[in-house]
This record gives sequence, structure tokens and C-alpha cells, in this order.
Amino acid sequence: MSQAEITIEDQRAEALLSVSPSADYSTGGEDQDSKNVLIALDHISKTYKMGEFEIHALRGISLQIHKGEFVAIMGTSGSGKSTTMNILGCLDKPSKGSYFLDNEDVSKLSKDQLADIRNRKIGFVFQGFNLLSRTSALENVELPMLYLGIKNPERTRRAKEALELVGLGERINNMPNQLSGGQQQRVAIARALVTQPSIILADEPTGNLDSRTSVEVMEVFQFLNNERGITIALVTHETDIAQYAKRMVVFKDGKIKRDQLVKVRRSAKLELEQMPPIDFEEDDE
Ligand code: ADP
Ligand code: MG
Repeated sequence: MSQAEITIEDQRAEALLSVSPSADYSTGGEDQDSKNVLIALDHISKTYKMGEFEIHALRGISLQIHKGEFVAIMGTSGSGKSTTMNILGCLDKPSKGSYFLDNEDVSKLSKDQLADIRNRKIGFVFQGFNLLSRTSALENVELPMLYLGIKNPERTRRAKEALELVGLGERINNMPNQLSGGQQQRVAIARALVTQPSIILADEPTGNLDSRTSVEVMEVFQFLNNERGITIALVTHETDIAQYAKRMVVFKDGKIKRDQLVKVRRSAKLELEQMPPIDFEEDDE
């Protein structure tokens, strides 16, 4: 697959506000293209009211994400990244504009309807892992399936399978405090993918991890995207981390400032192969 490179001219804000120039849509034709659109934000604004003040967190952003993409969302603090993720994840509603997820307009749904969409279609991974502390890795991963009413031999089978997929097949009975930060984040990734969501949303998933562990977590995301075709949108403020994605969208002051393919993509797997083996004493540093 050839990666169409984006020129500076292509990055002009006007173009970015209507269509994303980054994906290679040239071969599919319009019908094919629209079938593969997973997320379409159309002129989304979000205004928070603080007493008599209004904070314009998002000022009319339009963004499309296709199935199978791996998008890094970047930008300085306060630029609107988390607000965008909350809207994408159906945790919050836009003040204006429309949001289509899997061709369904979700911007006008009620809270209950949003919760249902969220349980079925979105997998979340957060900076702080958000695992239940007195609950084993296996039970943490089973939890979202409880909400979906998936019954027990099936629930445990799928949870084990997801934990094996993230390399934790031997740790399923460990409690979170018996796992390293990187392992806890992999449990959180397993929990996010066990319901077979349309997209995994990760907000600063490596923010609490050291650099080697960050690479290990990015390897899991790259594996899920490359080998399993799972669509991922990941917020990070680190360019280093964004380079594991396929596309980078940069926010500034509630707008999209830049949207481009990652030209030289990093491979976490290759980098890990080249690192010296871990010295086990390092664990509790
Ligand atoms: P980022 O994740 O890029 O740091 P956010 O999306 O969290 O940025 O915030 C964008 C802007 O909206 C900031 O000015 C922030 O202070 C404001 N903001 C975010 N959430 C709220 C909220 N719940 N109430 C009021 N203002 C908010
Ligand atoms: Mg944020």
C-alpha cells in the first residue's frame, strides 16, 4: 500500500475543516469510501458555560475516521483533545454539529441511548488504567460483557482470549497491584477490546508509563491495528508516541490545525527487538 504524502499546501486549514486529506481514498470510489467511514464529525462545536462565561472548547471541527485507521490526536493542553474524545466516545454531546458513528446520527440521542451505543461500540483506555483494584485481571476484562448481558462460559472464554491477545495469558488471576504499570494498561486494553467495539479510544495511554513500557503498550496497539484491523484513536502530547500511529491530527484552540499521514512510521515490535533484554530487578523502580 502506498502512503500518499501530504504537502504543506494540502494542510491548509480550509481543506482540513471539510475533508481529511490524509487517507488514501483514491482507489475506492465514492460508494466504497462512504462504506468505510466509521466516524464523521461535521462542524462540531462545544461550548461550556461557566456562570456568565462561555468557553469555546471546540470551534467547528470536521473529521472523518475510516475503518482500520490508527489516528493520533495531538495538541497542547486545552486545545480540545479530551473534549473531542468525550464526544467521539458518546460521553458528551456536541453543542452544535453532527456526529455519525457507523452511519448513525448519534448527536441527538438521549443519555440512555448514548450509554447503549457506548457499551456496544466504544472501547476506552485511559491514562490511569481505571481497573477495579480488588478484582482480578480476568474479572476486570469480563466486566463490560456483564453490561451487555453476555453469559458465563462465553464471558470467561472471551476475557481469557483478550488477555492472551495482549500477552497476559499467564496473569489472568493477578490483582492489579500484582501487575506492573504496563501490564495493567494491557489489561485495560483487553477490557476495551473484549466487546469487539467499532473503535478503541485511548486518552494519553502512555502518560503514566516509562519509555520502554510505553513502547510495549504501543506494540499492543500496533498489533491490534495491523493484524486485527481494529480502528484506534489515541490522544498523546508526545510526537514520539504519535509516530506509531498512521495519521496525526493536531488541534489548536479548538480547531484542527493539521491533519497528515505519519511519514516515517515507527514499529514498536522492531524497536523492542533491538532493545537489550530486561533485567528483572528493574521491576520496582
Ligand atoms: P485538552 O484535552 O486538549 O487539554 P480539553 O478538551 O480538556 O483540552 O479542554 C478544552 C478547553 O475546554 C479548555 O479551555 C478547558 O479548560 C475547557 N473545558 C474542558 N472541559 C470543561 C468543562 N467540563 N467545563 C468547562 N470547561 C471545560
Ligand atoms: Mg486532555
